[in-house]
Amino acid sequence: MPNGKPAGVRCAQLSAEERCLLFGDTRRPAVCVSLRPSPEMCGTTRAEAIHYFEILEATTAR
Ligand code: SF4
Repeated sequence: MPNGKPAGVRCAQLSAEERCLLFGDTRRPAVCVSLRPSPEMCGTTRAEAIHYFEILEATTAR
């Protein structure tokens, strides 16, 4: 996404299977490469992970 991914918008590089289409590709954004998953971030279910990211996006939205 040339101007970055706005909060609340699904990344254009996320496949229907919820996988990054740029994983292992040099075009993958540096912020994505540097992000390290943690138990706090991922939770124990997909719903918990989505909730965590919703909070992150809401608190960092401009
Ligand atoms: S890792 Fe980055 S580029 Fe890949 S799907 Fe997620 S936000 Fe998009």
